[in-house]
Amino acid sequence: MVACGECGTEISTKARSCPKCGAVVPHAKIWPWVVGVPVVLAIAFFLYGFSIPEYKAKAMEVRRVCERIATPDQRYVCDQQYQQAIEDGLAKSRK
Ligand SMILES: [Zn+2]
Repeated sequence: MVACGECGTEISTKARSCPKCGAVVPHAKIWPWVVGVPVVLAIAFFLYGFSIPEYKAKAMEVRRVCERIATPDQRYVCDQQYQQAIEDGLAKSRK
């Protein structure tokens, strides 16, 4: 549970907005994803013994930095940047 920043009502961390005043719950469950997903992916790659291609590592870094500064509804831009970086990297590695 978290306290609503507007009215102080206790809200489920799963709720996107306060049931009492309708205020949007501030980034309740977003940080664990922003931090956790890249970490889990990195560990998964490590455990499988992949050496991550440089372009991919760079793309992941681009997205991570982007997601750190983007609001949740801007995060699709980060995914686009990630895809673009992957495509650029693939194109370069084929040459
Ligand atoms: Zn509220």
